[in-house]
Amino acid sequence: MKNSDGVAGYIHSVETFGAVDGPGIRYIVFVQGCPLRCIYCHNPDSWKIKNGKPANSADIAEDIKEYLPFIKNGGVTVSGGEPLFQPEFTADIFRRCKAMGLHTALDTSGAAEFSDALKVLKYTDLVLLDIKAYDAGLYTRITGAAEDKGKNLLDLCEAAAVKVWIRHVVIPEYTSDEKQLNMLAEYLSRYSCIEKVEPLAFHKMGEYKWENAERKYLLSDTAPADEKTMERVREIFRSKGLKL
Ligand code: SF4
Repeated sequence: MKNSDGVAGYIHSVETFGAVDGPGIRYIVFVQGCPLRCIYCHNPDSWKIKNGKPANSADIAEDIKEYLPFIKNGGVTVSGGEPLFQPEFTADIFRRCKAMGLHTALDTSGAAEFSDALKVLKYTDLVLLDIKAYDAGLYTRITGAAEDKGKNLLDLCEAAAVKVWIRHVVIPEYTSDEKQLNMLAEYLSRYSCIEKVEPLAFHKMGEYKWENAERKYLLSDTAPADEKTMERVREIFRSKGLKL
């Protein structure tokens, strides 16, 4: 990559025809680096920023331009890793996307300071917010981090009227507990910025990538969430008036 006009950053990879991270067909930039260490992470290779590929927001925007005919009714998603770990880089990719008339989606856990989140939200149409757990102690067990800043991001989105799709990974014996799910659903039902909730079943597809990770993989003996569990979870969210 050659452009010196943009903001420098590190990426993990790009996907040019993504269909699950936001509406329509999307160009997806997976940035490198994440402050969390989630027990179910599919991409522990994206944790350390120095393991990423050097990139530049202007070059990425040039590449996105090539795909305009395909993504003009979808858009661009920046995912991770954690996109808010490189706020200037992510913000500049989105700024350039908005100048091209493209819809922008931020796929995040919200693990960032207010000031960094605001830089990016300014150019964001939709936030795909991964809420790890309602309970603070459970959040720490899952992510290894002391404070859940995702809830702060949800407050920011509510105040700025930025649309949100909530994602929540259902892990048997961790986040499948009925009481926890009811409290989470009750909490989410108070936000008018939330358009829908996507409960996601935990699976072990990324387990092999943990071999050299800095945290031990704790879910080897945990079964993936089955359909019966997922239907029960969906019913709890529906019962609080949330759309799925
Ligand atoms: S926030 Fe995402 S990328 Fe970061 S550790 Fe958790 S699952 Fe992995």
